[in-house]
Amino acid sequence: MKQRVLVLGAGFGGLELTTILSEEVGDRIDLTLIDKSDTFHFGFSKFDVMFGHKTADAVKLSYQRIVKPGVKFCQETITNIDPVVKRVTTNNATYDTDILVIALGADYDIQATPGLAEGGNEFYSFRGAERLRELLPTFSKGKVMVGVCGAPFKCPPAPSEAALLMHDYLVKKGTRNESEISIVMPFGLPIPPSPDSSKALLHAFEERNIKFIAKHLIKSIDPSRKVAVLDDGTEMPFDLFLGVPKHRVPDVVEESGMTVNGWIPVEKANLKTKYPGVYAIGDVNGVGTPKAGVFAEGAAKVAAETIIAELGKGEQPSPYQGNGICYVEFGDGRVGKVNVDFFSGPSPFGSYTEASVALAADKQYFGSSREARWFGK
Ligand SMILES: Cc1cc2nc3c(=O)[nH]c(=O)nc-3n(C[C@H](O)[C@H](O)[C@H](O)COP(=O)(O)OP(=O)(O)OC[C@H]3O[C@@H](n4cnc5c(N)ncnc54)[C@H](O)[C@@H]3O)c2cc1C
Repeated sequence: MKQRVLVLGAGFGGLELTTILSEEVGDRIDLTLIDKSDTFHFGFSKFDVMFGHKTADAVKLSYQRIVKPGVKFCQETITNIDPVVKRVTTNNATYDTDILVIALGADYDIQATPGLAEGGNEFYSFRGAERLRELLPTFSKGKVMVGVCGAPFKCPPAPSEAALLMHDYLVKKGTRNESEISIVMPFGLPIPPSPDSSKALLHAFEERNIKFIAKHLIKSIDPSRKVAVLDDGTEMPFDLFLGVPKHRVPDVVEESGMTVNGWIPVEKANLKTKYPGVYAIGDVNGVGTPKAGVFAEGAAKVAAETIIAELGKGEQPSPYQGNGICYVEFGDGRVGKVNVDFFSGPSPFGSYTEASVALAADKQYFGSSREARWFGK
């Protein structure tokens, strides 16, 4: 009898786990991969869309391209998860499974920040990036604010990248000298575990006259006055607000009763939940790494190897290290590299490789190699 594996969510984590299981034990499993969307996109491609470098269609990868031994993709919306009996309901069917992997990512809670929907813009959802693509050409000059509305949030370098890319955008437009750019961030440094990359980013901000406001969050937006209110009550006027909305698990995950303090708790070593045969990988869990694709991918590898070992093929893997490489856009076609490790030492640490044009090619390869691996040529 083939083992049934159900993977919920075909994002970074779900795609990597599915690929490994298919390669290693595709002949021993019936794997169903479910996602409500018909396409995948890399998080960083939202910048390409927002700044008009690529069209929305150019960055979308169709799930129809997935042809892998033992794998069936279903485009369905998950409406109920019962982790005790490992039963999942969608808008189309009910699935019972032997192994359940939850990889449903993080959703955005726009309403948690009063005024954000009416008076600000967010660049974290695909729709938000598409809206900004239409809006940016109509913005000529003024005060631009990149504001984080809650923590944790995906890809901690992304607000810094947005500010640096906005700088380039306004330089090209010829209105940078008549504009101001500021970033409001909850951390003391742009990338706390990596002092060297934080130093490089702070230097880049200083060079470009970008104001970095540390250890604050955006509490609300007053759309009528075009003012952002910080968590200490400070009011900051803006002409263009680019927000990072508060994050939360998808509704269906919250309703499953699996969350504690907002996220699904897992064993750090192997991403197992307290429910036998149920794993949670990527942004949806509370393992303690940043919410980023590279960490979802690393978690997927360990969870996949654990499942393979339990299917009787292969050794138990080494415990999850919580490490990964993040590429950081510095603008002007240059990309820096941050290598962070959360679990192998006594505290998180990161090394930094200076931004260069050569690293922009590395980042491109990062995306194209995953596309080839997950979707085929
Ligand atoms: C602007 C920006 C830039 C970023 N840059 C980087 C970067 O450079 N490097 C990096 O590593 N990370 C980056 N990220 C973060 C990265 O995109 C995410 O952390 C990563 O995608 C998380 O992977 P995941 O598998 O946990 O979830 P996701 O990739 O979000 O996948 C979750 C999937 O679940 C599906 N889903 C959710 N609810 C349901 C439901 N009810 N029914 C069916 N399907 C459902 C969704 O459609 C989605 O496909 C960036 C993010 C943003 C916003």
